[in-house]
Amino acid sequence: MSYVSDVLEDLKKKSENQPEFIQAATEILESIEPVFEKHPEYQKAGLLERYVEPERIVIFRVPWIDDEGKVRVNKGYRIQFNSAIGPYKGGLRFHESVNLSIIKFLGFEQILKNSLTGMNIGGGKGGSDFNPKGKSDNEIMRFCQSFMTELYNYIGPDTDVPAGDIGVGSREVGFLFGQYNRISNEHHCVLTGSGLEYGGSLVRTEATGYGLVYITEEALKQRNDSFQGKTVVVSGSGNVAIYAAEKAIMLGAKVIAMSDSSGYIYDENGIQIPFIKEIKEINYGRISEYLDYFDDENLTAKFVEGSNNIWDLKCDIAFPCATQNELDGDSARKLVSNNVKYLSEGANMPCTLEATEILQKAGVVYLPGKAANAGGVATSALEMAQRSSKLCWSFEEVDSRLKAIMVNIYHCIDQAAKEYGFEENYVIGSNIAGFIKVANAMMAQGV
Ligand code: GLU
Repeated sequence: MSYVSDVLEDLKKKSENQPEFIQAATEILESIEPVFEKHPEYQKAGLLERYVEPERIVIFRVPWIDDEGKVRVNKGYRIQFNSAIGPYKGGLRFHESVNLSIIKFLGFEQILKNSLTGMNIGGGKGGSDFNPKGKSDNEIMRFCQSFMTELYNYIGPDTDVPAGDIGVGSREVGFLFGQYNRISNEHHCVLTGSGLEYGGSLVRTEATGYGLVYITEEALKQRNDSFQGKTVVVSGSGNVAIYAAEKAIMLGAKVIAMSDSSGYIYDENGIQIPFIKEIKEINYGRISEYLDYFDDENLTAKFVEGSNNIWDLKCDIAFPCATQNELDGDSARKLVSNNVKYLSEGANMPCTLEATEILQKAGVVYLPGKAANAGGVATSALEMAQRSSKLCWSFEEVDSRLKAIMVNIYHCIDQAAKEYGFEENYVIGSNIAGFIKVANAMMAQGV
């Protein structure tokens, strides 16, 4: 047994009811094993035992009152996983599936993602099992105020800076920030993804999706290829999916399908993103409403129930942008048999371990989420930089920095993969490149 497999076995024993965390830890630990062969000093310093243990976990009660006057109680979480390279940074997810395992896996991934951005931000993640779907604006506001009243004690502009994730968009960030501002009486950069009127950054809304396309564009470019004329399937229809689709179309691709938890829409002539934006960003509606935008003669789109089947569609490029484990072994086999060439993860851990293996064996250019969707958190760091310098950069300025960061991430993970003898394996490349910076920072700071 090696040092890494010992630590992994021990972790599995200690984390029995945390399948998502174990899944992420297995992928990461197994792929960084070669680093420990090169750096025996890491083992002597007990680095991995420390690395897999969050620095701090806060779990709290979130009581709030619904529109009928009934008291409701949800659970709130913030995991401050690793602050070796900078203040904790990572989103808040509000979704009924949220539990300790999910927040731990997201926080664990976030450490490496944030490291890959090249900015000095540590890894954290939080959220609640509260589901904003179907709640009124007032209910969401009361929930966010109660959530922040407790979270307030643990965050700060140089301590921990949350942002959005699934179920937390500009509306929720606004309510959360309002409560922070009221309690502290200080206009700090304590949440990114803030509105432009109160300290937010241009491009933050588009950043994760645009970044996903920029890194994929670089992978295409290195293979003398481009988005021009490519067929793209994007799962999801939230913030990441919308802007990934928008940018892919800007670069000449055709997005033929998008989904939500009820099913997917398919149009071989290409999906029109402004309609999706109206349905999802303004009306908080269902994707099937897309069909209502067309009269009978112009309707070429169709709605298919069951979102997992979106991977049955033939495409050149797949962007899973919905949620964890949305793409399993069968879906991966289907994509491979349909000749998919590139798959970049907009969501965090959307592919199961089996799917990842199948895609890589088949030679699909596979860019894992911690590299491919790092544009969101990277732009959050740009938002922090603007806030602290009291400057507002133009759209073009932020966009070109985002693009440079994504191109840099591509070369950094490509280089790490080559250096360790795993050419074109971007899972290993991302994990190793991200890990080494954090490991060296931890080594420098002692036990
Ligand atoms: N939730 C996003 C992520 O998964 C963004 C986090 C942030 O901007 O802090 O990386």
